[in-house]
Amino acid sequence: MTEIVDISHVRLRDRPLIVCDVDDVVLNFAAPFADYLRRGGHELLPRSFRLTGNIVSIETQIALEEAQVKGLIGSFFEAQEDWQMPFDLAVETLKTLGDDADVVFLTAMPPRYQEPRRRLLDRLGFDFPLVATLEPKGPVMHKLHAGRALPSVFMDDMAHNLHSVRDNVENCLVIHMMPDSPLHLLAPKPDDGIVRAMDWPHAESLIRTHIENVSHT
Ligand SMILES: [Mg+2]
Repeated sequence: MTEIVDISHVRLRDRPLIVCDVDDVVLNFAAPFADYLRRGGHELLPRSFRLTGNIVSIETQIALEEAQVKGLIGSFFEAQEDWQMPFDLAVETLKTLGDDADVVFLTAMPPRYQEPRRRLLDRLGFDFPLVATLEPKGPVMHKLHAGRALPSVFMDDMAHNLHSVRDNVENCLVIHMMPDSPLHLLAPKPDDGIVRAMDWPHAESLIRTHIENVSHT
């Protein structure tokens, strides 16, 4: 079933737009999720780039079924305030960029978990609007930016999200940023031409250069 994505709370001003993923870009996900699994007697084996089939009982080494994996991801998102921490300089960099651009978080998470995420982001100082949806990110960002002739930037750790935005939002700077978790090292690589930011200061310089270049053409 297609979900209707609620973006009515996002008010954009007449200035550049930065749409940013949350898990493994702003907040750690892979590392604390692995810790969370271990606490419950499970472990994630980095055998391939998927969770289902690779989360096993530590005792029996038997892989959990898909429904159990979904349940664990859901309960982790419920408990995220106790587990997820921001990456170095993420808050500071987004706050500085937020002086000259609108920042919006676009998180691939069932909308029912957005309350604990909102509280966590607020507590850490990330006071930017949040859109939580499992819909493809490109069409959602297209709807947000609505064809405005203003610079736009998208950041994510997943190739399919980067490709979705590249294919749906014209002239958007699409930035790949990811932790070197065992799972990410197995992830599909983004296409050539998608730039990788190694950390938040690097991302900031890529973003500022793009905004300047677009503003002067
Ligand atoms: Mg992510």
